[in-house]
Amino acid sequence: MLKIENLHVQIDKKPILCGLSLEIKRGEIHALMGPNGAGKSTLAKVIAAHPDYEVTSGSIFFEGKDILELEPEERAHIGLFLSFQYPVEIPGVSNRDFLLQSLNAQKKAKGQKNLTSKEFDEFAKEHLEKLKINSEFLSRNVNEGFSGGEKKRNEILQMNILNPMLAILDETDSGLDIDSMKIVAQGINKHFAPDKAILLITHYQRLLDYVKPHYVHVIIDGKIAHSGGPELAHKLEEKGYDWLVESSCI
Ligand code: ADP
Ligand code: MG
Repeated sequence: MLKIENLHVQIDKKPILCGLSLEIKRGEIHALMGPNGAGKSTLAKVIAAHPDYEVTSGSIFFEGKDILELEPEERAHIGLFLSFQYPVEIPGVSNRDFLLQSLNAQKKAKGQKNLTSKEFDEFAKEHLEKLKINSEFLSRNVNEGFSGGEKKRNEILQMNILNPMLAILDETDSGLDIDSMKIVAQGINKHFAPDKAILLITHYQRLLDYVKPHYVHVIIDGKIAHSGGPELAHKLEEKGYDWLVESSCI
């Protein structure tokens, strides 16, 4: 589904990713771990086409298609989704309008019929209930005044509603209390299916107890330094990152 080869990325002439390769197949959950500043969020944002980051070499293929020239919305329309580490507040835009417009833009790109606001509310209801989000959240502005945990839950609501092929979740578990984390984990598991894939960026084994990854990767200094199975996350929890060789780029 996703094939990244020898990716080099810089921002303001400063190299951040240097020779990163990663392959994710349909039906797989991958966890990406690594110290602060290693380049995890950069990777997520580059896949989603954040304009600040310059890809200097390497390739990103999604479903066999070279996506580097595609705009962010074009990438979203073919099934990519990014949940931000720091979800932004959008004053003046209601959550309902934001979600409905996003969903309808995707439907339009696929040649499908738009949902009306009423149909959307009906459709959103089950997702809201599942994530224990009060329906008044739809009328509030996107993330405005939301607590940290509510913002993260709202990201998962977006994912559940947009139903992407590949969801990249950047520290969606950070700052969540244990009950909120379980709800978020349920939302992720409910979304996952054999035709989908998920890249979970996380610092903690805790989330991986609820959302079981097939593979775990460690990124250090802009490059995958080590990959393994779920046991690798336990080893990292125990030993930290020092035992891994640093490959220096940042
Ligand atoms: P991680 O998510 O692994 O903690 P990031 O990808 O956020 O790491 O950051 C990797 C490195 O790139 C850090 O040194 C960070 O300061 C730098 N960086 C990321 N985004 C920017 C930016 N917009 N401007 C300048 N430096 C950046
Ligand atoms: Mg980050």
